[in-house]
Amino acid sequence: MAYDYDLFVIGAGSGGVRAARLAALEGKRVAVAEEHRVGGTCVIRGCVPKKFMVYASEFAHTFETAQGYGWSFGEPSFNWKGFITAKDVEIARLSGLYAANLAKAGADLIHARAVLKDAHTVELLGKDRTVTAERILIATGGRPWVPEELPGIEHAITSEEAFHLPELPKRMLIAGGGYIAVEFAGIFAGLGVDTTLVYRGPNILRGFDDDVRAHLAGEIEKHGVRVVLGAQHTSIDKTASGLVNRLDNGIDLETDVVMFATGRKPYVGGLGLEAAGVELNERGAIRVDEYSRTTADNIWAIGDVTDRVNLTPVAIREAVAFVETVYRNRPTHFAYDHIPTAVFSQPPVGTVGLSEAEARKTVGPVDVYVTRFRPMKTAFTGAEERTLMKIVVDQKTDRILGVHIVGPDGPEMIQLAAIAVKMGVTKAQWDETCALHPTAAEELVTMKVKQEAPELRAAE
Ligand code: NDP
Repeated sequence: MAYDYDLFVIGAGSGGVRAARLAALEGKRVAVAEEHRVGGTCVIRGCVPKKFMVYASEFAHTFETAQGYGWSFGEPSFNWKGFITAKDVEIARLSGLYAANLAKAGADLIHARAVLKDAHTVELLGKDRTVTAERILIATGGRPWVPEELPGIEHAITSEEAFHLPELPKRMLIAGGGYIAVEFAGIFAGLGVDTTLVYRGPNILRGFDDDVRAHLAGEIEKHGVRVVLGAQHTSIDKTASGLVNRLDNGIDLETDVVMFATGRKPYVGGLGLEAAGVELNERGAIRVDEYSRTTADNIWAIGDVTDRVNLTPVAIREAVAFVETVYRNRPTHFAYDHIPTAVFSQPPVGTVGLSEAEARKTVGPVDVYVTRFRPMKTAFTGAEERTLMKIVVDQKTDRILGVHIVGPDGPEMIQLAAIAVKMGVTKAQWDETCALHPTAAEELVTMKVKQEAPELRAAE
């Protein structure tokens, strides 16, 4: 049977666009449907605008530091509306580039919501037409999730609205203790907003190394974020003066804006998956095999909609593996080990490999190296900031299992450390590397003393 397209991609985010472009460059007839703007979460309402907000916010600390170095200037002020306009112009430019690159590769871009009618047929809502394709790739990403049953949840925003607040609030409360909560808490505190982070667990960033979690919680407090742990909302009440957050520890906190950063869920609603024979797994994500093939033979899925590792570069690598497998006759699956990750908190976190607790559990006895020091740049400011670096080493093989950094430029350092860790570097080889002075990164190759203190050990 002749199909309209060789490949129909649903969702023009990082994963979908990469797969569509590469397949089109292989000479395939490709179409991509997108119901919102081209670029997806990362470009439109995620990583990219978030990083601009982090940059905007960090100037507050830069101004403070500058005064220690002899600079003086009037009271700095921040123009939220001006910033949002500039950010939106850049996001529009990037979105346009994505669309242009699709066109350059020869893929058709269709601005419509796509719904599967069967395994080879897609209905384009609002366009009054259906198209057929030999293969379909679902790359619809995720959407913020909030506890719908919470009384007053309708007063809360998510990160999506945080990018477009009409004005900067005076007081903000952020619920959650994951990536988004911690990053936005830093952003708003830096911009001068009275910011409180409320997290239900004993410490933020569950899943990260325990030393990282403890260190970061202390550092973000030094940067002006009030951290309330072990507490959860029981309701949000709107009053004449603001929003009252009632917490289960008996505390009521009034703020102007409440943001819920309580996770994201695969965006699968109304896609017609059942009609096409595509099944979900127990987490509500599209079930795929290691090559990203769904339970329907000709339908594939990549990125956050599959809820494997929800990071942009991972979606891109899954897209490349899909094209290698399907169109280049080289069955490829992405290896999910040693994925470096960053939290753009203030200070930021960079990490690769296993936490100490994970390493002890999955590998066995480990040696642990930890250093804490004051970043050189703050020498004249009296700031109490401290950088944390931690290396986890397999006692048996001397291989480095994990590297963790909390401090300025931590994510930049981790990207490079990840190369060595991925290659299986031993601590002895790592230590042979000559230090580069004066940098913070040199501390990484000069950690010689194993940590013995039990309090530095993560809970077993
Ligand atoms: P996360 O899954 O990282 O964190 C969700 C947080 O919400 C957790 O602290 C969780 O607590 C808490 N939570 C969940 N349910 C409730 C509830 N009912 N009441 C109160 N708290 C609750 O999600 P995010 O939304 O922060 O981010 C989504 C994903 O996006 C990330 O996992 C990451 O993959 C990606 N991302 C990556 C970034 C980066 O690379 N820098 C930046 C932003 C997002 P608990 O821990 O107890 O479950």
